Amino acid sequence: MSARFTAILLPLLLLASAAPVRAGNGWSEVAYPLAGPPEVIGSFNAGCIAGAVALPLVGDGYQVMRPSRNRYYGHPALVRFVERLGQQAVARGARLLIGDLGQPRGGPMPNGHRSHQSGLDVDVWFLQQPRDRTLSRLDTERIEMPTMVRATDGVINYSRWSPRYRDMLRLAALSPEVERIFVNPIIKQALCDSEMDRSWLGKVRPWWGHDAHFHVRLACPPDSAQCKPQKPFPPGDGCDADLANWVRDIVRAALSPRPYQKPEPPSADRLPAACDAVLYGPTAWKAP
Ligand SMILES: [Zn+2]
Repeated sequence: MSARFTAILLPLLLLASAAPVRAGNGWSEVAYPLAGPPEVIGSFNAGCIAGAVALPLVGDGYQVMRPSRNRYYGHPALVRFVERLGQQAVARGARLLIGDLGQPRGGPMPNGHRSHQSGLDVDVWFLQQPRDRTLSRLDTERIEMPTMVRATDGVINYSRWSPRYRDMLRLAALSPEVERIFVNPIIKQALCDSEMDRSWLGKVRPWWGHDAHFHVRLACPPDSAQCKPQKPFPPGDGCDADLANWVRDIVRAALSPRPYQKPEPPSADRLPAACDAVLYGPTAWKAP
């Protein structure tokens, strides 16, 4: 990117951003993808992406939330996944709210996530909108993401939960390009207890947080030889003692919260060397 465009665009981006942008992380300051064919390099928590594409901010059955963060870029397969999930939402009368994908060239973010670095991760809010309602830009920045659990009781908050949320989670899990999905253990436990066919729950992995959104991660795409796959999870539906331990830990943590410690921003040190060329290479001015 030329110095001139940096001078014009960067202050605008910083002004528009709700969260403070930390200096010293080039990845969050580069405003556009690297031109060229898509390629994922490295892993979800130490990686980057060349040739990423932007998810349009509003599409059939979805809308991007917090667009000021400029984290709506990903591998074309990720963008296609969101668009298809949106169409499946439309068929059910709903519009999905889409959280972060990745930065224009991936890489570590100064706040919010350790993963989402390789253009293969996307957060989908559980909360949905009616199909025909589009939120104002202001609302996309300020509407809060409501939790779906009562963590101290270890149960889903059924006054908020809807079978529609389960439907979208299931459709995402059934997508062949999806490698795994993270949800709060309390949500997975509830599904283990209520689903007749639990085979799709294998991909649904318990993790901290993820009580207001689910986090979808795609498998390494065939065009990306330098993409580092994640260790496979054990076979089976995962409705087991390990999940019960997760739920117990979540309840304990909710009952005796530790003092909040601001996490250190992730370091860019461990990124594959090939990511240097992604960060400093030329900008894609037009989406391919
Ligand atoms: Zn996420």
